[in-house]
Amino acid sequence: MDEIAKIPVRELRGVGPKLAGKLADYGVRHLEDLLFHLPLRYQDRTRITPIAAAQDGTDVVIEGEVRAADVVFGRRRSLVARIQDGSGTLTLRFFHFSAAQKNNLKSGARLRCFGQVRRGSSGLEMYHPEYRMLDSDSAPVEEALTPIYPTTSGIGQHQWRSLCAQALTYLRKAGIEELMPECGSYPYALTQALIYLHNPPPDAALDALREGLHPAQLRLALEELVAHNLSLFRLRERQQREGAPELPARDHELNAFLSALPFAPTQAQKRVLADIAADLARPVPMLRLVQGDVGSGKTLVAAGAALQAIANGYQVALMAPTELLAEQHWQNFQQWFKPLNITMEWLSGRTKGTKRKDALCRIAAGEAILVIGTHALFQADVEFSRLGLVIVDEQHRFGVHQRLSLTRKAGNIAGRPHQLVMTATPIPRTLSMVAYADLDCSVIDELPPGRTPVATALVDAGRRDEVVARVAAACEAGRQAYWVCTLIEESDALQAQAAEATAQELRAALPQLGIGLIHGRMKPAEKEQAMAAFKAGDTALLVATTVIEVGVDVPNASLMIIENPERLGLAQLHQLRGRVGRGAQESHCVLLYQPPLTINGKQRLGAMRESNDGFYIAEKDLELRGPGEVLGTRQTGLLEFRVAQLPTHEHLLQDVQTLSDTIRREHPNNVEGIIRRWTGTSEEFAKV
Ligand code: ADP
Ligand code: MG
Repeated sequence: MDEIAKIPVRELRGVGPKLAGKLADYGVRHLEDLLFHLPLRYQDRTRITPIAAAQDGTDVVIEGEVRAADVVFGRRRSLVARIQDGSGTLTLRFFHFSAAQKNNLKSGARLRCFGQVRRGSSGLEMYHPEYRMLDSDSAPVEEALTPIYPTTSGIGQHQWRSLCAQALTYLRKAGIEELMPECGSYPYALTQALIYLHNPPPDAALDALREGLHPAQLRLALEELVAHNLSLFRLRERQQREGAPELPARDHELNAFLSALPFAPTQAQKRVLADIAADLARPVPMLRLVQGDVGSGKTLVAAGAALQAIANGYQVALMAPTELLAEQHWQNFQQWFKPLNITMEWLSGRTKGTKRKDALCRIAAGEAILVIGTHALFQADVEFSRLGLVIVDEQHRFGVHQRLSLTRKAGNIAGRPHQLVMTATPIPRTLSMVAYADLDCSVIDELPPGRTPVATALVDAGRRDEVVARVAAACEAGRQAYWVCTLIEESDALQAQAAEATAQELRAALPQLGIGLIHGRMKPAEKEQAMAAFKAGDTALLVATTVIEVGVDVPNASLMIIENPERLGLAQLHQLRGRVGRGAQESHCVLLYQPPLTINGKQRLGAMRESNDGFYIAEKDLELRGPGEVLGTRQTGLLEFRVAQLPTHEHLLQDVQTLSDTIRREHPNNVEGIIRRWTGTSEEFAKV
């Protein structure tokens, strides 16, 4: 191992126990961690810009003499100083200032300021610049671009800079071991790339750096993506090494189940069912991702998998991200599995007290065969007796650790349970290479027959009345409709309020219609009732929050209005829209947007109008929003890279694959080192 990986940050100047503690909380313990703590962006403080040449919106250093300074009482009290160099004048403005500042900024004082230039009412201005008084022995300007580090409260930029500068001194002396194979032709060696990015020279191409396309960044991004890929493979290998119960295919049970359905599985469903059946029969855990567009019939595939495990005498856990979706599964599986005498158990956050205790007992005793629920299934006290298969619907909302935590409480089985992950957000291929390298992938690339694509229209909220009239006409003609209220706020309470207000307003406008309401704040029994009434056609219009985003299935509903669609991500819109277009009649979706739309908003809604193809929409989403949003992993940190960015670095992914293979095959001893350097979460993974 490199020296640098072993030297604790405590050895550095200025690091006492307190700072060391904060750094450790941030995952920085050794010099190596500091070197891989890379700047987010750079400021150019290497040259002084003449005031006349300073451009609106840029960060620059200027130097000049104070010509006038005054406290001004406008809308807000501020300290205003005019400073002048040979080329022009500029106004400094401070809304917060001390008496000492006021005294310093006297006429005649010489200053060097750094800040963003903007064009204000009095010409060029800088708000709250950093500044320093100049005297005869003032330091020259910076020799390198100034890095801005990602940070956490309590560690300032100057601290990061000083620490990283010290780490660089070690690096320059000792270098850092290259762990990447030689087959790649890299423009920079690792040591050089690190030095460059912590300390770019004044002539560095700032534009390329800003876009993440500088060769030094590409070198590091490549290694980081390789590290990520390796860590997922390691995760996979560790699980597979433990083995899993063999669950041979049970054709008799499966065929009996399928022949009782009112429809035949599609070719795509059959193919995926066969993939799964083969996986389950092997003594290593299945790690399979099933991707399928909204409405492609993933539930049936899940049922087939569950049946195979159950027929072999094992329990199955099925997890969904929302209560409503879990309830839909509950209803489906009740209908399918009750005739087969399979005992089912429900477990959600709302299962409390003795009910919960009893449920846990039945799960632990193995009486409950199919357990359906939400996040509640992850809780520490949920223990199974013989859990053979874990099915996770809408994987992108759960972290990989949550899924794995469940597989650790499987009870008395040989090895790990099999895992089936289903996602309705089609993940662009390139992204899944990074995000799901630990999973095998099957795609349901066919919709059940008889579906008609949903026609989507963009309508300005100013024309809301027309839309209401259109809903009324459709419902009177026997169709059913959803009216979806959205809010940016995560708050359930506000969402519920908005939906309630809309329902009231629509009931007043359309007294002749049966109008239902469903939102996350309702009791499960109320929600069930609202869904049942809509399913039965007793209500023609269902006002809803985005709780109906996933899973809800009412084939007669053929019209959907989405309010404020510009606030939602494309994947979410696609999910919502997938609630219609499930029957034979032509379906429509109206995106009732609030003008004016941003350019990005226009592009996103435009993509919805153009296409019903989940993969196309996911690619667009990735392009317009970035992978964290697309996968919903922003919180879980699954795709928080230091240097790598997607889709910016998409073109590297092919090499990533090749390099990762080569390393695993030819340099297995380098795997640990690469992962440790790059993935702050490696310790969490290590526990798996
Ligand atoms: P998703 O992939 O979005 O989870 P679902 O499993 O909810 O899709 O299926 C959507 C609808 O299609 C359900 O009403 C389901 O019963 C129906 N369905 C599934 N498979 C078929 C099929 N092969 N033929 C006809 N309808 C099907
Ligand atoms: Mg589904």
